[in-house]
Amino acid sequence: LTEKLQNVFKNLRSKGRLTEADVKEAMKEIKRALLAADVNFKVVKDFIKNVQERAVGQDVMNGLNPGQMVIKIVNEELVKLMGSTTTEIQLQPGKAITVIMMAGLQGAGKTTTTAKLAGKFKLKGKKPLLVACDVYRPAAIKQLQINGEKQGVEVFSMGENHKPANIAKAALEHAKKNDNNIVILDTAGRLHVDEDMMQELQEIKETVEVHQTILVIDAMTGQDAVNVAAEFDQKVGIDGVIVTKLDGDTRGGAALSVKAVTGKPILYVGMGEKLSDLEQFYPSRMASRILGMGDVLSLIEKAEAEIDEDQAKQLTQKMKKNQFDYNDFLASTQQMKKMGGMSGILGMLPGMGALGGKGLKISDEQTSEAEKQMARMEAMIYSMTPEERENPDLMNPSRKHRIAKGAGVDISQVNRMVKQFNEMKKMMKSMNKMGRGGKKGKFRL
Ligand code: GDP
Ligand code: MG
Repeated sequence: LTEKLQNVFKNLRSKGRLTEADVKEAMKEIKRALLAADVNFKVVKDFIKNVQERAVGQDVMNGLNPGQMVIKIVNEELVKLMGSTTTEIQLQPGKAITVIMMAGLQGAGKTTTTAKLAGKFKLKGKKPLLVACDVYRPAAIKQLQINGEKQGVEVFSMGENHKPANIAKAALEHAKKNDNNIVILDTAGRLHVDEDMMQELQEIKETVEVHQTILVIDAMTGQDAVNVAAEFDQKVGIDGVIVTKLDGDTRGGAALSVKAVTGKPILYVGMGEKLSDLEQFYPSRMASRILGMGDVLSLIEKAEAEIDEDQAKQLTQKMKKNQFDYNDFLASTQQMKKMGGMSGILGMLPGMGALGGKGLKISDEQTSEAEKQMARMEAMIYSMTPEERENPDLMNPSRKHRIAKGAGVDISQVNRMVKQFNEMKKMMKSMNKMGRGGKKGKFRL
């Protein structure tokens, strides 16, 4: 496929702006790639249409040809569509019990994922209770019990002769007495979407307060994922999605389809049968996987790195003249974001790879807190006037108040940002004195 793509690109003339013809030509291949990844055709059609409109007239980045530029835009849009950052399962505050209901077709991976999630929560110091609400197959109850035992987590079951809703109710009573703070309901699936299944899930929701309904989708579901997700969302209402079996060779287009039709975030991905094989979902990794154009994407990265290097050179110049200002500060945070934000950077460090799942772990909370802080910092700099950005010395209390208001943050956060800026400026100055300012390469925070 990639070879074919490259041929297409050769025929495209390199020039300043993307024309409609450039975009159309490249889009043909992208459409094929998305369909080959099992993205639903309706989703593909809408996506292509939107991106096409956005792409025409855009400048072609240095070092890329028009076709590659289109792929760059497509990749960005895919990431945006899938949610840009990682999303956590929302837990009830304080001592309240969070009730999570798993939903999905038979064989999607609900029971396995229930146990995997229990392990994650346990690591975070929670005390989960797993509840066997699949009363149709004795083996299902046994399976949950075995997995629960492996994870060292209690499993609540009442056998097969009770209604799932009543089991859930009894489980919640048990959880209250037992100091559990998370209850995960493992429900029954069917081979196909059907009324009984939906009704059963609705009944559970009417009987106990369910805080998070998580749809479990098999990555190999293919085209049908859209219908499954839409039905579950309409009839039962879902809050998030977990895509399983991404360890297979499927490109995982189902993830994109499900996100596009439900708008609900993808929380985790299942990467194997082992109970530790559940990973945080990273939109950018998923986007490259779905596009399946690794070669082109790394070329694009290289082109971006070169631009970064230009910026770094400019920055070095400024450092030499001791002119580091808030615009540079902003550029440096944006550069960090381009490298995939905190989670991306941490993921790239050896031994911390989220892909491998081994080694030192930075908690998901730490990562998302760092990302939030970065976003706040940007909001504050955007609330500054151009003069303020260029002349850091202008900063005074009344300006700080205005900036805080504009960015919707507390004045203490503006103070903190200014302090960080000054520290960085100081650091630059001392680096400059050491004569290392001219070193080439990426500029890092
Ligand atoms: P349920 O019917 O929705 O409860 O599905 P199960 O949890 O029983 O899973 C069905 C099958 O899929 C089992 O054999 C699991 O081991 C397997 N499975 C679940 N998640 C994954 C995954 O992420 N990767 C792989 N390779 N297999 C998985
Ligand atoms: Mg099951």
